[in-house]
Amino acid sequence: MNDNVRALIEKLASEHHLSCAEYIELLSSREAEAAELLAEKARAVAGAVYGREVFLRGLIEFSNYCKNDCYYCGIRRSNRLAARYRLSPEEIFSCCDEGYRLGYRTFVLQSGEDPFFSDKVLVPLIAAIKESYPEVAVTLSLGERSYESYKALRTAGADRYLLRHETATPAHYAKLHPAEMSLKTRLNCLNYLRELGYAVGVGFMVGSPFQTVENIVADLQFIEEFQPDMCGIGPFIPHAATPFAGERAGSVELTCYLLSIIRLIIPDILLPATTALGTLAEDGREKGILSGANVLMPNLSPVSVRKKYELYDGKICTGEESAQCRLCLSGRIKSIGYKVVCSRGDRRKIESLIPPDEQKFLNCDKKQAASRLGEERP
Ligand code: SAH
Repeated sequence: MNDNVRALIEKLASEHHLSCAEYIELLSSREAEAAELLAEKARAVAGAVYGREVFLRGLIEFSNYCKNDCYYCGIRRSNRLAARYRLSPEEIFSCCDEGYRLGYRTFVLQSGEDPFFSDKVLVPLIAAIKESYPEVAVTLSLGERSYESYKALRTAGADRYLLRHETATPAHYAKLHPAEMSLKTRLNCLNYLRELGYAVGVGFMVGSPFQTVENIVADLQFIEEFQPDMCGIGPFIPHAATPFAGERAGSVELTCYLLSIIRLIIPDILLPATTALGTLAEDGREKGILSGANVLMPNLSPVSVRKKYELYDGKICTGEESAQCRLCLSGRIKSIGYKVVCSRGDRRKIESLIPPDEQKFLNCDKKQAASRLGEERP
């Protein structure tokens, strides 16, 4: 690794920010040694904030009906081959019930943009979940909705919202989506969510068609500026029944490299090692954790519908029962020296922008942080 790249990694770790030209250089000089140094720094930072704990979210994919037509997505409305399904509110509730018994304290309700799930249907469901399990966090991932709708869902008790920005470059956004969708609308939604007090998650696909190094830099700069609570990134994986069927998949290595960079930009961010990462490589999620991720989202959907929520080809964990998924992941995480924990797993806030000349960990117990850092280093 050349000295320049080493210096850039040191700078990112202490200042949580690089210039556009510096990010371009860091991304263009990607090789094994630089990746390992980045991952080491990212593990140390994640360790100082979260220890070696990995948070679990029970993911309930409750409908694959979608009114949108994103070119990359297997459940886009034009995919006539998709077998559509929709869980009833009662079925969704019983997934939560099972999840609660398995120890989950965060439920992520995700779906296509399905008009059936109006506020009228969702508000009582969210309220019932929060009433039955007051100590759990409810995360929504339902796509774009109006300010009023986000407000109603928040008032009903939803705590967090995941809405990947997909790409921070308008021209690239236009290559991934039909003309009726725009980055501007997406960003407006993210601003509404923040204003309403949700913990907000953004994110993008790594290696999506037409993505350039400059596009990725724009994503990193957007993350620096927006300061999200969570960021979901995973490799793009083609789906056979979409316009991008013949495109190449993203890579595990670049995804891990970016996970480390994002961890260094926002030390206390909640960062999942995604199912897409686990789909591209058998040990993809473990690699993600070792690159600085600290969240996993095992599937809690009924096995009968899992195969149908097919955003991309070859998605893993579609055949196992929820209890098996839970066990399998705990084992995987234990094998790399981490442990999964049963808690809400809120963001542990530390000062997000730390002056370069000061200690790395301002708001957490400095001694504890220092000793954890010590533990992490060989
Ligand atoms: N309808 C919701 C949930 C979308 S699915 C919404 O709009 O937010 C969740 C994420 O899966 C998407 O944001 C997208 O980034 C990702 N995804 C979709 N198709 C994919 C593919 N082919 N490969 C990898 N990730 C994909």
